[in-house]
Amino acid sequence: MTGGASGIGKATAARIAAEGGSVVIADVQDAAGAAVVTQIENSGGKAAFVHLDVTSESGWADAVAATVAKFGRLDILVNNAGIGDTEPIEVTTLDTWNKVVAVTQTSVFLGMKAAGAALKESGNGSVVNVSSMYGIVGSGVSPAYHAAKGAVRLLTKTTALGWATEGVRVNSVHPGFIDTPILGDTDRDMLIAGTPMARLGKPEEIAAMITFLASDDASFATGAEFIVDGGYTA
Ligand code: NAD
Repeated sequence: MTGGASGIGKATAARIAAEGGSVVIADVQDAAGAAVVTQIENSGGKAAFVHLDVTSESGWADAVAATVAKFGRLDILVNNAGIGDTEPIEVTTLDTWNKVVAVTQTSVFLGMKAAGAALKESGNGSVVNVSSMYGIVGSGVSPAYHAAKGAVRLLTKTTALGWATEGVRVNSVHPGFIDTPILGDTDRDMLIAGTPMARLGKPEEIAAMITFLASDDASFATGAEFIVDGGYTA
């Protein structure tokens, strides 16, 4: 579970642990990640923290090895860590573009590449890549974020086809506006006004979809995109 120290990742880690899964929180936020582990353990679940910068290929190798060493196997990979940009293309710097693409898109490539062998060995592997409704529709700003999230959607599909007979399913989840720290100081009322259900989503509502896709209940779902956006893209 990348980005498990906050928001959607934190809620998903708690949900999967509550369903009996052993969860590794992989994040750059050490203290917040350790706090999620303590919270899960206090609720009777199993969890561990590994420091992972998802843009590091060697970091990914270490994180997968640490996971298999700790829990003996790897059945589920949730590529959830992400950052965004907020400006129009005219003022977006190459540095911002490169950072957003590295954390939000390249990380998904590195994660699936690093975890592929262990997921195949599990015989019942599932990858859930957290994209965005902004990987499906544009907004007029945030060029790096839209490009990266759109890329995650097709990276998901092509990997799903490649692994279709190898016991690993790969799907993407596309949240709408969810009330997490990534929203920063964005005007919540404006986001709510643009959402047909007239509210923000809760991290738990994305966690429920991710957990479903990770589970055997979704055993015939692969290469598919699952939109959870309060009707935004309808
Ligand atoms: P968040 O900011 O609460 O959580 C993001 C997590 O990613 C944090 O724990 C952060 O430390 C971690 N992270 C950032 N850079 C990292 C790196 N280099 N290596 C490892 N971890 C790193 O935000 P969130 O809303 O929970 O976002 C989770 C995912 O959901 C992101 O991919 C985001 O783009 C996506 N998403 C969020 C929304 C929303 O409205 N909240 C909407 C659509 C998609």
